[in-house]
Amino acid sequence: MLPADSHVHTEWSWDAHAGDMVATCARAVTLGVPAVAFTEHVDHARFQAGPADEPMVPPPFDAEGYLAAVEECRHRFPGLRILTGAELGEPHRHAEQVAAVLATGDFERVLGSVHGIPVGGDGYAEPPALFARQDDPAQVVRDYLHEVVALLEGSDVFSVLAHVDFPLRAWPDDAGPVDVTAFEAELREVLRVLAASGRALEVSTKRPIERVVVRWWHDLGGDAVSFASDTHDPDGLAHGFADAVRLAEACGFRPGRSPVDLWGRA
Ligand SMILES: [Zn+2]
Ligand SMILES: [Zn+2]
Repeated sequence: MLPADSHVHTEWSWDAHAGDMVATCARAVTLGVPAVAFTEHVDHARFQAGPADEPMVPPPFDAEGYLAAVEECRHRFPGLRILTGAELGEPHRHAEQVAAVLATGDFERVLGSVHGIPVGGDGYAEPPALFARQDDPAQVVRDYLHEVVALLEGSDVFSVLAHVDFPLRAWPDDAGPVDVTAFEAELREVLRVLAASGRALEVSTKRPIERVVVRWWHDLGGDAVSFASDTHDPDGLAHGFADAVRLAEACGFRPGRSPVDLWGRA
């Protein structure tokens, strides 16, 4: 049996233009995905493409509308386990706004993410903009991973760390192939802090996480993983999960009792 897809966006995420919650549920039933967590974006950072550009402020998340839509899907697809959730962007830097959103209902699978890092004033830059600003691409990755440590140390409102390798999705072509072991020290520090906090690591299939990172996670005492397509449309649901399951098993993780459970140590 496939595991839950614990990181899925629908039309309730501001950037998911092809998102469709009902169609995603139907797709889950077709594929035999037993459980889905709808983790919509909750973002408060002002993103800047370039130093001279106007910042882009994501529109507010409609928590009440989203929760009602989940309830409707639970009635419509009674055989599918549907978890509420959220993907919190930089919750350590927007604690009050995030708390207000989480207070509106019961969010079951809450992810913590770093998408952008502060670049002066109240602006944030995401990896494509960071690579454009910085001559040394490796420094972008190190800065990102330092910010992830700040996220883990500065917020306890989420239970899964999303896409630890997020900047590698935008690694510049002219920098040659990525060697994740070049960031072993920084990644191990992130994983050590994550394990100490008792939270889970996401096995993302969007840019498939390197096996060695999941091995480090197991070696450092990490005791849970989630599976995450991070899809923004119904077609991407559970994409690459067969490989991700094999990877997690090879690294010492096993399913829980229920399909909505995170995988634990074997
Ligand atoms: Zn994200
Ligand atoms: Zn996401």
